[in-house]
Amino acid sequence: MKFRGVDYYDIDSLLTAEEKMTRQTVRDFMEAEVKPHVAEAFNDERPLDMAKLAPKMGELGIIGSFIPREYGAAGSSYTEFGLICQEVERVDSALRSFIAVSAGLVMYPIWKYGSDAQRSKWLPLLASGKKIGCFGLTEPNVGSDVSSLETTAKKQGGNWVINGAKQWISEASIADIAVVWAKTDNGIRGFLLEKGIKGFEQKRTEKKGSMRAGDVGELYF
Ligand SMILES: Cc1cc2nc3c(=O)[nH]c(=O)nc-3n(C[C@H](O)[C@H](O)[C@H](O)COP(=O)(O)OP(=O)(O)OC[C@H]3O[C@@H](n4cnc5c(N)ncnc54)[C@H](O)[C@@H]3O)c2cc1C
Repeated sequence: MKFRGVDYYDIDSLLTAEEKMTRQTVRDFMEAEVKPHVAEAFNDERPLDMAKLAPKMGELGIIGSFIPREYGAAGSSYTEFGLICQEVERVDSALRSFIAVSAGLVMYPIWKYGSDAQRSKWLPLLASGKKIGCFGLTEPNVGSDVSSLETTAKKQGGNWVINGAKQWISEASIADIAVVWAKTDNGIRGFLLEKGIKGFEQKRTEKKGSMRAGDVGELYF
């Protein structure tokens, strides 16, 4: 479908041909692969099949699009990233949540603050959609008030031991890797937790009023 939007400020005239092409590609994908399934997924509260969709989105280069190409992402401009979010949001807000969280809250912190080993292992897997990430900040008792976080991380021997819980986490139950924020003796630190490690539980929240085509849930440590 040809792009036709409401553009009172003629933003379109500021976009490059490449940016417009990205927008059209994402629109075509959303129309063909997602839109036909959204109403049913929302009504039945059965999240979209991310095992199928994420690798297709990875092939289009729309997961973590602004992360540099050396890590398997598209190395796009932030404008293109905004257009990707706009087109995904147009069809389903929960899937846009996946795109926004993957890029800004999972891949960006790994790229900026992770070790070389974490970057080279996780960024290509996340960009390709072969693995899914989530971001755990919000908690049951304190919401997203960072200064009051109750999740703690303490070093015992050579290991970190994390205790606490996170709530309202996008892709919580299906994530292969979680960027988790916890209080340590030296302030708040981010940790990468892989699915299946001892003491790490992931759960989907049910009976939501909105964002019902997407996975939101809880993490327990
Ligand atoms: C669908 C969904 C997906 C989510 N995904 C994630 C995720 O992937 N990872 C994650 O960590 N979290 C996630 N969240 C949680 C989300 O980030 C928080 O719910 C959000 O940041 C609001 O925080 P809160 O719930 O603590 O609300 P509060 O901070 O209690 O806010 C309630 C109201 O009070 C206002 N308020 C709060 N503090 C102040 C202040 N100091 N001054 C003035 N006004 C204030 C707020 O603006 C708001 O209107 C998700 C939430 C939803 C609903």
